[in-house]
Amino acid sequence: MGKLFVISAPSGTGKTSLINATLEDENAKKTKLGISCTTREKRAEEKDHVSYFFISKEEFEDKIKNDDFLEYAEVFGNFYGTPREWVLNSLSNKENVILELDIQGALQVKEAFPDTRTIFIIPPSYDDLSSRLSKRAQDSQEEIKKRLKEAKKEVEIGKKFDQIIVNDNFSLALEDLKKFIFTEEGLTEERGRVVDKSLNLLLD
Ligand code: 5GP
Repeated sequence: MGKLFVISAPSGTGKTSLINATLEDENAKKTKLGISCTTREKRAEEKDHVSYFFISKEEFEDKIKNDDFLEYAEVFGNFYGTPREWVLNSLSNKENVILELDIQGALQVKEAFPDTRTIFIIPPSYDDLSSRLSKRAQDSQEEIKKRLKEAKKEVEIGKKFDQIIVNDNFSLALEDLKKFIFTEEGLTEERGRVVDKSLNLLLD
């Protein structure tokens, strides 16, 4: 069996870039990223069947009825679900699978498959997260406020994940993530201290 990793992070933490860079590593030959189904609108830079399977709400509901999803959740008003068969087939083909899920999905998968390695990526502070969300220029000010409020709730839950990584610096965070995924070793003492400091700040 391959290993299953689930990665969650508050919106704007840089999770997707870190995952994409991890998948480019030469150790990632047997590691694949799951493609989810979603009812949300496709963004300009996204491709159907690559970024997501973009489907209608009716199709999504049919898939729920057919038990096609390993887990599904509603996130910011849209539905997202992980195709069950693809994940299970990949794992039995000895491939490692990374799922990029919201926190509810991560908890559902961990409960169903306790061997899942859960990873939570945090920003160094809410100020940092706020400026990243503003720079992304994808959301309105109101939407950003909503995402920051949600981030606080997510950190409360995510602090219990198997590994926490802080994205204070892209290269260092990438090194931490690759280390955990490819060697399953924990963080260095120094990086562990950065995580503790950021968590204290975020949970204050
Ligand atoms: P976005 O719309 O920005 O691509 O994703 C919004 C959130 O939904 C992100 O936290 C992303 O990780 C999460 N997400 C993407 N696919 C799935 C899925 O299949 N299940 C769950 N539970 N969350 C997902």
